[in-house]
Amino acid sequence: MSDSSETMILEDGIARRGLMLVLSSPSGAGKSSIARNLLADGSGIELSVSVTTRARRASEIDGRHYHFISERQFLKMRENDDLLEWAEVHGNFYGTPREPVEQAMREGRDMLFDIDWQGAEQLGGKMRSDVVSVFVLPPSMAELKDRLHRRAEDDETVIEKRLVNAAAEIEHWRDYDFVIVNHDLAKAYGEVRSIVVAERLRRTRRPGMYDFVTTLIGS
Ligand code: GDP
Ligand code: ADP
Ligand code: 5GP
Repeated sequence: MSDSSETMILEDGIARRGLMLVLSSPSGAGKSSIARNLLADGSGIELSVSVTTRARRASEIDGRHYHFISERQFLKMRENDDLLEWAEVHGNFYGTPREPVEQAMREGRDMLFDIDWQGAEQLGGKMRSDVVSVFVLPPSMAELKDRLHRRAEDDETVIEKRLVNAAAEIEHWRDYDFVIVNHDLAKAYGEVRSIVVAERLRRTRRPGMYDFVTTLIGS
């Protein structure tokens, strides 16, 4: 896959490349809540639906939140190079299906990735100029623990494992372009939205600006 999209998105009639917004955080910090708001606000960003071998939570819909697959199916996809990146997280396999991302980039659509630091590192290595990465921190470890309990979707053993793994995930915060603290969901979502707005205007993402300026001032 090339580093830049083949089809451009028009921003004020000026061509720009699609962007890949990566959100990571320790489990429970709120990245799925932020993602949900972004996906629903009409800002024109689509979710990359990962495959996972983890069991489906009661609130989750197969094909919408994840594609829930067996370990055998996962290993087959990995072997066939159908995954753009993959990682083992909290004892389960997760991966980003390659085809939908390549199609989105070809068609000039922005995509959102709710993936861990290992996935962020892999995408950053492959598509650095298209990736914008955001790390979401919880206000405190006590609040993180409370949120995992309040979410009430995972059993106690799973929550314990996620809390143990939280510090190791957080240690990667420095590798991200942006870092936000999710005290208040509306504020955190607003901050991520602002990042998307600004990144869409980034000069290096807007090759169409050269033609626009040439027309504006004459060459
Ligand atoms: P999921 O389990 O992560 O998919 O999240 P849900 O959509 O099931 O949301 C769980 C509940 O948490 C919902 O009732 C949300 O409205 C609520 N919620 C989300 N963000 C906040 C927040 O910032 N503060 C409070 N108090 N509740 C929130
Ligand atoms: P993640 O996707 O990072 O695992 P979630 O988005 O599922 O986290 O959030 C974990 C829990 O915390 C959910 O129940 C969610 O509703 C809640 N939550 C998210 N952000 C906040 C916030 N700012 N204040 C209070 N609760 C929050
Ligand atoms: P959860 O089980 O809470 O939905 O996700 C657990 C962790 O796996 C989160 O950190 C989430 O971002 C990450 N994750 C979800 N999908 C993928 C994926 O496709 N690739 C990678 N590398 N991580 C993922």
